[in-house]
Amino acid sequence: MINIKDPKVEFAINAVRQAASLAADIQGEMVSQALTKDDRSPVTVADFAAQAVVGYYLGEIFPGATLVGEEQADVLRSPEEKEVLERITGFVNRVIPGVSPELVCEYIDRGIDDPGESYWTLDPIDGTKGFFFFFQYACALAYVEFGKVQLGVLGCPNMTPDLDQKTGGIGSLLIAERGCGSWITSLKQFEADQQFTQLSVSPQKEPEYARLMRSFESGHTNVSQADFFQEELGGKADPVRMDSQVKYALLAAGWGEIYLRLLFPDRMDYREKIWDQAAGSVIVEEAGGKVSDLDGKPLDFAQGRTLKNNRGICATNGFLHDAAISALQNISA
Ligand code: AMP
Ligand code: MG
Repeated sequence: MINIKDPKVEFAINAVRQAASLAADIQGEMVSQALTKDDRSPVTVADFAAQAVVGYYLGEIFPGATLVGEEQADVLRSPEEKEVLERITGFVNRVIPGVSPELVCEYIDRGIDDPGESYWTLDPIDGTKGFFFFFQYACALAYVEFGKVQLGVLGCPNMTPDLDQKTGGIGSLLIAERGCGSWITSLKQFEADQQFTQLSVSPQKEPEYARLMRSFESGHTNVSQADFFQEELGGKADPVRMDSQVKYALLAAGWGEIYLRLLFPDRMDYREKIWDQAAGSVIVEEAGGKVSDLDGKPLDFAQGRTLKNNRGICATNGFLHDAAISALQNISA
């Protein structure tokens, strides 16, 4: 079991819980109106507000720590964005009473660090499309040491704690610590007797029954190559399409067997951002799964803001990893 009294664990759970719950409030209060006008500002507001909340708590609890966040406050400081910054400040005020727009920018910019030997990395809203259309999205925070993820937390406001794939769930929180397993609980406020349930991957060993997890957005993975892959594997199961690192959560809980992030022929140089993979990957590994790049190499989180040394991602329940890697080699040959 994870020691929830450990200062890093306690900070990560609390920060993600507050940030993800605030994002859910913003979604509830802003998105429906915006949808009709195709106004994307709720995503911007939630993204910055969630990063401000995590930056604030990190500064309070670990003042010297490094945070590599997806966002930076530069854009918000321009006069044209004054209203948006005020909106963000209004929401952040619910978590940090009396906060000013200047302080909100300061807290967001706690995330502009470059990764060092040890660092935290944050995707405040992973799966922006899922956020906008009331599907799945996640707030993802991880702690990395010497290129290896040690702790990962995912706050998933629209997922039920039994991960039964419905939208509009009461919200769940997943946590994994290297060597201590992967666990899930409710996103709701922390209580001393809170129940954590351990996650474990699917025991499926037959490639033909492998369920593939896929991005909802076709721009985020090479869909035709994913079809070839499934053919090569002899797979018959329908793919599971979903936004964000919630796919990693489902893989960790046995709702699917293989999750690939493939490259496009015209974007072979695309490298994954560390905050898009760090938390989710340790959650899968600690649930018994395996995560590598498309060549079977371990992910190297010591190369800056992207996984420079890794092409794409192959995450599996472990039992099907070798089969997945050889299918990948066959389709790219
Ligand atoms: P998903 O929700 O699985 O579709 O993945 C969302 C993430 O995909 C975003 O956070 C982006 O960082 C990332 N992304 C954006 N463009 C690309 C791309 N061309 N290839 C792969 N991932 C991308
Ligand atoms: Mg993301």
